[in-house]
Amino acid sequence: MTDCSPLAVAMEEEESTAMSMDVEESPSTSIAPRDPPKIQRLEESVVNRIAAGEVIQRPVSAVKELVENSLDADSTSISVTVKDGGLKLIQVSDDGHGIRREDLPILCERHTTSKLSKYEDLFSLSSMGFRGEALASMTYVAHVTVTTITKGQIHGHRVSYRDGVMEHEPKACAAVKGTQIMVENLFYNMIARRKTLQNSADDYGKIVDLLSRMAIHHNNVSFSCRKHGAVKADVHSVVSSSRLDSIRSVYGVSVAKSLIKVEVSSGESSGCAFDMEGFVSNSNYVAKKTILVLFINDRLVECSALKRAIEIVYAATLPKASKPFVYMSINLPREHVDINIHPTKKEVSLLNQEIMIEMIQSEVELKLRNTNDTRTFQEQKVEYIQSTLKSSRSDTPVSPLPSGQKTPKVPVHKMVRTDSSDPAGRLHAFLQPKPHNLPDTVSSLSAVRSSIRQRRNPKETADLSSVQELLSGVDGCCHPGLLETVRNCTYVGMADDVFALVQYQTHLYLANVVNLSKELMYQQTLRRFAHFNAIQLSDPAPLSELILLALQEEDLDPENNEKDHLKERIAEMNTELLMEKVEMLEEYFSVFIDSDGNLSRLPVILDQYTPDMDRVPEFLLCLGNDVEWEDEKACFQGVSAAIGNFYAMHPPLLPNPSGDGVRFYYTKTSEKSSQENPALGGNVEMESVLDQDLLSDAETAWAQREWSIQHVLFPSMRLFLKPPASMASNGTFVKVASLEKLYKIFERC
Ligand code: ADP
Ligand code: MG
Repeated sequence: MTDCSPLAVAMEEEESTAMSMDVEESPSTSIAPRDPPKIQRLEESVVNRIAAGEVIQRPVSAVKELVENSLDADSTSISVTVKDGGLKLIQVSDDGHGIRREDLPILCERHTTSKLSKYEDLFSLSSMGFRGEALASMTYVAHVTVTTITKGQIHGHRVSYRDGVMEHEPKACAAVKGTQIMVENLFYNMIARRKTLQNSADDYGKIVDLLSRMAIHHNNVSFSCRKHGAVKADVHSVVSSSRLDSIRSVYGVSVAKSLIKVEVSSGESSGCAFDMEGFVSNSNYVAKKTILVLFINDRLVECSALKRAIEIVYAATLPKASKPFVYMSINLPREHVDINIHPTKKEVSLLNQEIMIEMIQSEVELKLRNTNDTRTFQEQKVEYIQSTLKSSRSDTPVSPLPSGQKTPKVPVHKMVRTDSSDPAGRLHAFLQPKPHNLPDTVSSLSAVRSSIRQRRNPKETADLSSVQELLSGVDGCCHPGLLETVRNCTYVGMADDVFALVQYQTHLYLANVVNLSKELMYQQTLRRFAHFNAIQLSDPAPLSELILLALQEEDLDPENNEKDHLKERIAEMNTELLMEKVEMLEEYFSVFIDSDGNLSRLPVILDQYTPDMDRVPEFLLCLGNDVEWEDEKACFQGVSAAIGNFYAMHPPLLPNPSGDGVRFYYTKTSEKSSQENPALGGNVEMESVLDQDLLSDAETAWAQREWSIQHVLFPSMRLFLKPPASMASNGTFVKVASLEKLYKIFERC
């Protein structure tokens, strides 16, 4: 073995410089098979240490195991002391039932446990740790001393362990109720690990974080955690009857007061029985990092899929997308959890994980939207009362402002209709009051929203049934297969200006992002109907000019002056028409046109997304031309479709500057005759200048769009889009490949 290795190294070194080296020249040394190396059995202590290093990866994993043992021992008070980030000392003291004297000799042997005697017990157990590995592991990588006393004994016992065995007989000693375990010099025999850990200063922080999490879930136990020698504890929780109280005492008042309670209880019928209860932060909470405190069957675990799913809901629901604080406790039948897939038992695998996550996601979304709506509702109510008071005091009937008079500026979210008596120019003039009867198909989400609207303005329920009908229409047309695809697909990238490549299971699809975003925006407009946040335009622009602009853009023959007059007339008429609808547009769609005819506000359809302002003229023209204003339902549908089209993620108007597209940004400025050069045959040469500003505008526009497609469109589609059946056949989704077939092709290669 040794005789051939220098050559191997030499060859490797040579390879880069002398690729053509002739191997044939030295056949005896390079081809001769070397003797198989001898297989040796590793020493048992080494095996144990390797295994132990997997169970106890860092100081915090030791603390977790020790605290879980204390909880299993029915403790009501657990205190932790840490020195040197846990490397010098971890000491956990509890007031639990203690360990029997006769069990001490085997306490730290591998696979000794009081919690499990046969494999089947794994599934009926409710205690925290049950593989009898934790304590044993600690003795292989540290010095462990146990002091314990059981009920009815006059004195306790103390004993130290190394490599799984007692170092001496247990000694009698004075002891207070419970058990105290000291782990000293962690990783003393794993030099490399100790060095890396010594350099990372955050282990104590991890321990504090762990105990904080434990403390809010086990609110019937008091926890404390302090650095060795410190007077003040960094975690100090007291037994409390409410979970919210314990969150307040551990994470602070500001966190506790921005929490909303969430609950899901699913029956067997849904295919996965589980109960979830917890708290999630509302829009007042601001943080850069998500905190997800997750307990499954009372065990602190991590679940990155759930974490991501919740983050998506927040990004898509709250205007300022903050990262959430989430506490959740999930209980499900033991046989549905496999805790032992990971040596540290940190990750769990669950049956029907996807269904569960989806149900939790909708609950969180519902609660978030609900509180958002409620907040608006409260603000509206205050205004409403004030304006009622004002009008009754002045004793004059409220009438519309004379034309030309400016309306007072009111923040958009506080705008309230104060005049329900005069329907002139409003949709209500055309309405037939209908009984407010929600069809069964309407989702609970819209039911909640409409009940809020009802409270807000009880007289005006009739105008909403048409929106509900449109929404049920959306639900009714939904294609289940596409829904499944949209919910679970992964965005791969843009294939060209319009099609994105997405993967679903083993299939690759091309998805038309323009069609998809148009439909999504349309559906969201209906869902957020009358409840939009607003985008304030920095330069309010006059309607008539914008419409004229759109008409000019449409015209293929811009030189024809005769038509100009006609265009102006059309623009004027369209402006007049829209001016009649301003109140309705503002109230239901948050499209605000001031009394001077300037467009100044637009609705937020998807948070974190503003439409391409170059498309405003086209949008206004479309409102004027394409909406059926006389019929309520058709009108709402028309306006929503126009908004949908405007907000859709069309390719930017500037051509894509990547690849050949960059040519567009070269302007030919001067012509230079190059007759002096006969080689050019007297051709006229154009001098091209790159328009840097335009190019960088285009680059930004395209980059922004791609970002929005990936980070706004796809996550939101997953949550909200109900793809209509037509999308299955109109080229919106095209299957381009499936892995099974690709593999077959590769096999042949
Ligand atoms: P496991 O928790 O999987 O049983 P451990 O190695 O963590 O394995 O613990 C071994 C056994 O030691 C436990 O089953 C329990 O009986 C006992 N034990 C450990 N810590 C405590 C404690 N703080 N109080 C009482 N008993 C304990
Ligand atoms: Mg244990």
